[in-house]
Amino acid sequence: MDNAATTPTDTEVLKAMNPYFSSKYGNPNSVHFFGQEARDAVENARRHVAHLIGATSGEIIFTGGGTEADNHALKGIAWANQKKGNHIITSKIEHHAVLHACHFLEKHGFRVTYLPVDKYGLINPEEVKSEITDKTILISIMHANNEIGTIEPIREIGRIAKERDIYFHTDSVQAVGHIPIDVNDLGVDLLTMSGHKLYGPNGVGALFIKKGTKIVPLIDGGGQEKNRRAGTENVAGIVGMGKAAELAEKRMFEGEEVKISKLRDKLIEGIMKKVKHVRLNGHPTMRLPGNINLCFEFIEGESMLLSLDMKGVAASSGSACTSGSLEASHVLLAIGLAPEIAHGSLRLSLGKENTEEDVNYVVEILPGIIKKLRDLSPFQGKWKGLK
Ligand code: PLP
Repeated sequence: MDNAATTPTDTEVLKAMNPYFSSKYGNPNSVHFFGQEARDAVENARRHVAHLIGATSGEIIFTGGGTEADNHALKGIAWANQKKGNHIITSKIEHHAVLHACHFLEKHGFRVTYLPVDKYGLINPEEVKSEITDKTILISIMHANNEIGTIEPIREIGRIAKERDIYFHTDSVQAVGHIPIDVNDLGVDLLTMSGHKLYGPNGVGALFIKKGTKIVPLIDGGGQEKNRRAGTENVAGIVGMGKAAELAEKRMFEGEEVKISKLRDKLIEGIMKKVKHVRLNGHPTMRLPGNINLCFEFIEGESMLLSLDMKGVAASSGSACTSGSLEASHVLLAIGLAPEIAHGSLRLSLGKENTEEDVNYVVEILPGIIKKLRDLSPFQGKWKGLK
């Protein structure tokens, strides 16, 4: 139940990739038969990725993952447009791939506005509008949050960006392949994707760059990806991402995400019914089909993870162990949770392989784990008083 961290590679994806490790080993930049065979495979994958988001093939470049695509979007737009301005608008709940790229740009003369969010993790488009200045060159707001699953009002922000003629990037790593996306309808100029969040391989991603966007490459070298991303292409990885995109489109058409969101709601309801002093983080309806993020009072997320792991359930918490000290998640703090509450968070993220039995099992074992941990917790006195 940790599909937001990564998804298992689909067997069909693996099957499609396999020949490109062995018999079809050509370099797509070679003119001979082997090279052209690999080139065809890369271009076929590009068509599938483009189709999944309503783009054209020429608007897709392959990268080494979502992190690289985010860095490319932010730094590439910043360097290319610095004569026009030096101001970037983003949010406080972005993935570190965006936040840390912004911190880097701040050290190099750019000014970044980090917008707050409401208690559900939603950005207010009006606040985006009011922060725009004549120096603003880029707005980067994530499509769906990786921790709390909230889906942002991208279309509204896209409209504002267009009105003011400002580039708009969205990190769509958690949304692509899970909810329908049309880049033209959303009004985005740049959109980040990652293979391993949609049952493709790790270490491959893609960036949609709308035709005509002024951007410089992040990686210099050969002329691959039409001079936008140097380096011999990761052919097998790209083929895998293309197949994953093709399959994701088919699954969405067949309504798989509806099935997953039903399991999600069943799991939320089951836990909330059996456990007291728990709150659901993120928006109640505008959330990713597979995302559940709960805060259990009087306990600490890491100990929940270990107990669940011992019972065969893989989950994640909002805390990250940074330089020896346990730091509460920046996302949970941004939605207004106190650090001690944020420490008791648990993220369960469902994927296509989760079943009703999985959901029933977690609903069955979790209350016992919570009770045991609460009885042991340093907040025990407070907890016992409330029980
Ligand atoms: N952006 C978001 C929202 C993510 O959830 C992740 C991965 O967790 C990334 C970016 C980074 O993607 P990758 O792991 O492909 O580098």
